[in-house]
Amino acid sequence: MELRLLNPRWHASYSARRVAEFVERWHERGLSVTPQRLAIIRTLLASENHPRAEDIYAAVRRKQPHISLATVHRILEQFCEVGEARKVTLLHDSARYDGHVGPHHHVVCVRCRLIRDIEMPEVDRLLEGRTSLGEFALLGCALEIDALCKRCQIQRAKDELRVLSKTIGR
Ligand SMILES: [Zn+2]
Ligand SMILES: [Zn+2]
Repeated sequence: MELRLLNPRWHASYSARRVAEFVERWHERGLSVTPQRLAIIRTLLASENHPRAEDIYAAVRRKQPHISLATVHRILEQFCEVGEARKVTLLHDSARYDGHVGPHHHVVCVRCRLIRDIEMPEVDRLLEGRTSLGEFALLGCALEIDALCKRCQIQRAKDELRVLSKTIGR
């Protein structure tokens, strides 16, 4: 099965395209593209790590000092409602937002919660044309693969070494 991380270059070109589409669609809806909405979608799309509302707030506030965290939350929820963003997972403690709305899946570091996009066309095809599963109406599918990122692998090795040297030192 094909399984690959989406690279940063792909992400940058996707983001540029999405900002343009966003502005167009928002106008079509008859809504105004406020500087706040634009700053939030730009920040969301610029981040590869599926930011929390707090992360977006911290970044946007540098240019929009009067924006509040509540406004950021409200606008992100609005984006999700109209399909301009989605939440990576509903089960984690705090919501992580994703500006990549095409079919894709995630590899998640179980230690630091770093999240990267992956494509798995075979998985997408598995559900193609299916609209229900028993009593459920199907809405979509995003797999989450548990993993350890590079930094956390190094950290884990250090921790293990520390435990080991303590045991030996005793
Ligand atoms: Zn990690
Ligand atoms: Zn994603």
